[in-house]
Amino acid sequence: MKQKIAIYGATGTIGDNALALIDAHPERFEITLLTAHTNIKKLAALTQKYMPPYIVVGQGHKQDFHNTLPDYKGEVLEGEAGLLEAAQHETDMALMAIVGFAALPPTLALQKQGTTIALANKECLVVAGELIMAGVNDKALLLPVDSEHNAIFQLLQNKNQAEVEKIVITASGGPFRTYSRQQMESVTPAQAIAHPNWRMGEKISVDSATLMNKGLELIEAHHLFAIAPDKLDVLVHQESVVHGLVYFNDGAVLAQKSLPDMRIPLASVLAYPDRIASTVPPLDLAAIGTLHFEEVDRGQFPCLALAEQALESGGFAPTILNAANEVAVAAFLATQIGFLDIERVVAESLSSAPVSTATPPAHHSLEAIITCDTETRKFCTNLIQNRL
Ligand code: NAD
Ligand code: MG
Repeated sequence: MKQKIAIYGATGTIGDNALALIDAHPERFEITLLTAHTNIKKLAALTQKYMPPYIVVGQGHKQDFHNTLPDYKGEVLEGEAGLLEAAQHETDMALMAIVGFAALPPTLALQKQGTTIALANKECLVVAGELIMAGVNDKALLLPVDSEHNAIFQLLQNKNQAEVEKIVITASGGPFRTYSRQQMESVTPAQAIAHPNWRMGEKISVDSATLMNKGLELIEAHHLFAIAPDKLDVLVHQESVVHGLVYFNDGAVLAQKSLPDMRIPLASVLAYPDRIASTVPPLDLAAIGTLHFEEVDRGQFPCLALAEQALESGGFAPTILNAANEVAVAAFLATQIGFLDIERVVAESLSSAPVSTATPPAHHSLEAIITCDTETRKFCTNLIQNRL
């Protein structure tokens, strides 16, 4: 019996890597669903190749899909309602690789259905960590794909969490690791998305350049591993070979190492708990020779400090942080604001967005989170239009 996999966000870079793995193991996997937002041409090509019984396209793109692939006999669903409907269909595992807040409703719907999720999307854990972790059970497992979290997840297998002193995730430092603040002021979107070690979607590439990505990942780790903020840290490691470290109470530090290639964490979750070949060349430490580690300069990368603050504050602060960052990154990519304006938008939203941050996290409902997200987006859009 093949393992049935639904891929949400199949046309992105995580989708590419997952499909490359699936292609390498045709006897093992079968695709039950593919989704895309606007890249209908690519989705049509993938649909023709894998012939899943269902696909989901972004709102208003159904006709475009039918015109592009008139012979497709499966069901074409549309928009957010389509994603929720798709989540009702039985599958052994769903890979959640939609970028941003949009992944949250289908992720919760998949959990309700008792589906195991291979989670690449990090924004949904940032905005609704308590809700999502409450939905995890023996049927609806949550397997982290994000490389650092996948590393920590592997390191913690069969370990007693009470013996963990500290969890450290590494950051490459991104393309501007050696830049001055003045140099960063004028960088372009093309420079920001040219990551030194990883090939990723535009949004996460910009997040890696501001180090907001690492901040989002700390919040992600806090929820995934139920670890207190003061036991979490970041280390800059420019080679991206060590992805995560767990410090135990006896002084032992376990680290997970691999080449920076998402097929490695993806292989470990798609085949979980087995291991399968990832088609990535072996790690040659002698050829790499030297690994570097250094502290992060939070003055150079204030987005990390803002995320740490939001993690510490709890409540709606991480939801505000995420919404402001999504709006600011989109505005930067559209050349409406400069690179350092991203941190300004996020900082101002955290201090002044007209959203109540008082509610304790346990009381967060999906509706409250959506309201907070929507209000913050309005605030940021205004801020960008009127003041920046
Ligand atoms: P991407 O931009 O390459 O792809 C995003 C996918 O989401 C596409 O298939 C797109 O069609 C879909 N999508 C975009 N907006 C949507 C919306 N509003 N509704 C429905 N679908 C939508 O992104 P990516 O690099 O593949 O990353 C996907 C997610 O995985 C992100 O949350 C990212 O942070 C996380 N992640 C990625 C990497 C990586 O190496 N690329 C590593 C760790 C975590
Ligand atoms: Mg990561």
